[in-house]
Amino acid sequence: MFIEVIGSCGSKNAECRLVCMKLGNRVLIDAGSAALIPDEELDLVDMVLLTHAHLDHILDLGFILDSMVSRRGRPLVVMGSEACLSIVKKHYMNGLLWPDFTRILIEGKPILEYRLLADEVWTLLPGDVECMAVPVNHPAGARGFLFRYNEKTVVYSGDTGPTDKLWRMANEQRDPIAAVIEVSFPNSKRSIAMASDHLCPSLASDELNKLGSHDIPVHVFHMKPWFAEEIMGELDLSGKPVSLLKPGSRIEFT
Ligand SMILES: [Zn+2]
Ligand SMILES: [Zn+2]
Repeated sequence: MFIEVIGSCGSKNAECRLVCMKLGNRVLIDAGSAALIPDEELDLVDMVLLTHAHLDHILDLGFILDSMVSRRGRPLVVMGSEACLSIVKKHYMNGLLWPDFTRILIEGKPILEYRLLADEVWTLLPGDVECMAVPVNHPAGARGFLFRYNEKTVVYSGDTGPTDKLWRMANEQRDPIAAVIEVSFPNSKRSIAMASDHLCPSLASDELNKLGSHDIPVHVFHMKPWFAEEIMGELDLSGKPVSLLKPGSRIEFT
């Protein structure tokens, strides 16, 4: 099992792709830049797991469904919190802004199936990886995740401001092997980070201190591209080994 980055930014420009990661071959975490995945890889995807319904995380959902509707005979499951799915249904795939793909049948079944992700229980996903959703401090139905495979756990913050429960749940796991944490703004924009329920390096450092004594690799994502250089100069997070996720980066569950 692995996490492989397709896009890792919290906004887009010529250099940066919106958030989308492969969790193994059959699940996507968010779909911001999912349309950039080659067709033969996209054909293997059964589920998109959404952290929340902000545009940078869902933008390409409509375009991969557009491609799937004419190329395959099985549905794509879109999974997320109740609030997140409700926003996607009401404001995106609503038959106005983009088609309501639940009304388009392929071999008698809708090409899009929404599935509610329960909080704070382990849910088995395609590819035998388990996921636990934990509410975090961010709008649009946001959840952070714990992913568990072969008794190894990766903590994935999603978009969030300072939060507690996710790290507490992570500390209850026997073998956390990596943390993926958002850092959207530089320290000079700490007040904007706080106001928009995001993190800057100093806030992320405080969050990682909640992980207790786990000396695990930390992977940073979701930076606003125009602050990339400034953020990278500030990424010494509590002395933990830190890497910046970019397209092609991989985290292995080993
Ligand atoms: Zn975002
Ligand atoms: Zn967001």
